[in-house]
Amino acid sequence: MEEIFLTSRQIDQLASLAKSSLPNESCAFLLGKNDRITEILPMQNADRSAISFSIKPQQVLQAYDLAESKKMQIIGIFHSHPAKPAPSSTDKRFMEINPVVWLIYSTTEHRFKAYVYDTDVREVVVKIITA
Ligand SMILES: [Zn+2]
Repeated sequence: MEEIFLTSRQIDQLASLAKSSLPNESCAFLLGKNDRITEILPMQNADRSAISFSIKPQQVLQAYDLAESKKMQIIGIFHSHPAKPAPSSTDKRFMEINPVVWLIYSTTEHRFKAYVYDTDVREVVVKIITA
């Protein structure tokens, strides 16, 4: 995937989720089709940490079930960093296992960056549409 499409409303929703989760990292699944996100599914950061996040397996399964019932796919994983929006070494490891789009929001720089792992971590362009 070269780019991912989100609405300005979804961008606001994710930025608010990140802010309300401070000082911890926030996380969410991004549902949609192809490269277009249609729904955001906020998840609880089971780590309750400012430097990492994890989602309980039961919540992951529920998210996949919900996506399937809506005939959508989980096309991305969102999480926030109280630091720059670059994947940490832990993120990179998990990106390799889970090669969906990884969208990261920096609560210090107030910007989004997206990445995907194919043969290595590379950037995906975040396209914001008004809808
Ligand atoms: Zn991270």
